[in-house]
Amino acid sequence: MPRDFLKDAKDEYDVVVIGSGLAGLTAANVLARAGRSVLLLEQHYKLGGMATWFKRPGGHIFDISLHGFPYGMVKSCRRYWSQEIADSIVQLKHIRFDNPMFSLTTTFNRDDFTRLLTHDFKVDPQAASAFFDTARGMNFYDERSMTTRELFDKFFPGREDVIRLLMEPITYANGSTLEDPAISYGIVFSNFMSKGVFTFEGGTDKLIGLMERELRKSGVDICIKANVTRIDCRGGRVRGVEVNGRTIRAGAVLSNANLNATIFHLIGEQYFDRAFVDEARAVRLNDSSTQVYMALKAEERIDESTGDLLFSSTAPLFRTELLLSRDITSRTYSFYYPRTRPEGRPRCLIVSSTNANYDDWASLNAEDYEESKRDLVETTLDALDKYVPNVRERIDHVEASTPVTFQHYTQHVNGASFGTKFEGLAVSRALPHQITGLYHAGSVGIIMSGWLGAMNYGVIVANEVDSQLMQASRIQTAAVAGGEAGSR
Ligand SMILES: Cc1cc2nc3c(=O)[nH]c(=O)nc-3n(C[C@H](O)[C@H](O)[C@H](O)COP(=O)(O)OP(=O)(O)OC[C@H]3O[C@@H](n4cnc5c(N)ncnc54)[C@H](O)[C@@H]3O)c2cc1C
Repeated sequence: MPRDFLKDAKDEYDVVVIGSGLAGLTAANVLARAGRSVLLLEQHYKLGGMATWFKRPGGHIFDISLHGFPYGMVKSCRRYWSQEIADSIVQLKHIRFDNPMFSLTTTFNRDDFTRLLTHDFKVDPQAASAFFDTARGMNFYDERSMTTRELFDKFFPGREDVIRLLMEPITYANGSTLEDPAISYGIVFSNFMSKGVFTFEGGTDKLIGLMERELRKSGVDICIKANVTRIDCRGGRVRGVEVNGRTIRAGAVLSNANLNATIFHLIGEQYFDRAFVDEARAVRLNDSSTQVYMALKAEERIDESTGDLLFSSTAPLFRTELLLSRDITSRTYSFYYPRTRPEGRPRCLIVSSTNANYDDWASLNAEDYEESKRDLVETTLDALDKYVPNVRERIDHVEASTPVTFQHYTQHVNGASFGTKFEGLAVSRALPHQITGLYHAGSVGIIMSGWLGAMNYGVIVANEVDSQLMQASRIQTAAVAGGEAGSR
């Protein structure tokens, strides 16, 4: 008999959370701690969504999206998870750039960037200071007509080298481009500039393991291999979900699945206003990426001066379209030293990432797809040799992932690494106004993306779900009281 992955699930919950990305996990934990009964449903066999890992023979563990996040994670993990999780967050001190315009190493915070801008790039100190203040002062409610390119042109006109230094890491961190609203750059850039770039010591496997323990402590029911196929929204309010052939009732449903998939696949446009459907259709997906995962032989080591994160490019200028081209000129390398997993087997691993277009991969037939992956691996090893000499001889395992891989594992439309572009946030926020009890939290709108953005968005939406449930129970109590008074 096939295993019943829903055997421990009850028939009704206050809240069903669809998807166990960092937004879904955090929302589930916040709601359960607030006293709500919560069911977390994940279609994959592992929790974590993009925050995940995989193992290969030889003791190698690869992290998929553990490259770096801002210091704000410490506070969010302490508040919404545990002190133990927060205490495992450590700084990455060697962030390197290497391109035809400049080569440098930085701690990637305001002090060090001020030093670089004024001493190395000879920028006027007042312009540098005004730029940092402007970026830090940006908030979500600002006007959004200014693009990131216009922001740079205002403070550093004609300085393509400065733009590259300031923009390249953020494009990598959240897929934003020079053409996006400046606020989507300013908020994320300032988050990093406050203290630098951080990582989770122990690896993603340890983080998600600790989170699962907390969820169980908080009383969340967790089901993996539970693929939600429909959110029941009849009559303008959420009633429950259909999952693995079963119906589970809920007062609220919080979807952590892709925004587009939530609206058009799990619900259906007939349940929404025409204007809302048009707005939702216009939301652009974010780009995807390719990765090459490389593990060195057990006895091999990389000198730590190679860096933790290395933004390398052979393109003479920084251009958005070049970043996405299948003809790769930019690669971001993450170097994982044995200290990444102090309790694990000592290993050195490297992950090379490049932003990518879904269609460049999805349109290939099976043979060309495999050939293109082989080419990606070979050209990456060639490029890496500059930083890790004789890498081919020192390597124990290598493999590649593409936008198609991400779509396969997470069901994200077009394998988008960071959900949707900026306009997705307004659509995500509008869902409960369309259907009572329906919520979305997850990578949207650049700011609410990445580990920190997704987690914090989960908290914001969880609090809204809790308020709605509280209001619904007040209305019910008043109706019962009214009924009793009427019958007296
Ligand atoms: C290669 C790569 C590198 C990255 N590097 C970084 C980085 O260095 N720093 C950083 O901060 N961020 C990074 N990110 C981004 C970051 O990982 C994501 O923004 C974040 O993890 C997304 O969290 P989320 O909550 O939006 O959900 P996701 O992680 O997208 O998870 C959604 C979950 O929903 C599940 N699901 C979908 N549909 C259903 C359904 N119908 N039923 C049940 N379950 C369903 C999926 O299986 C998945 O588990 C990276 C992303 C990628 C792809």
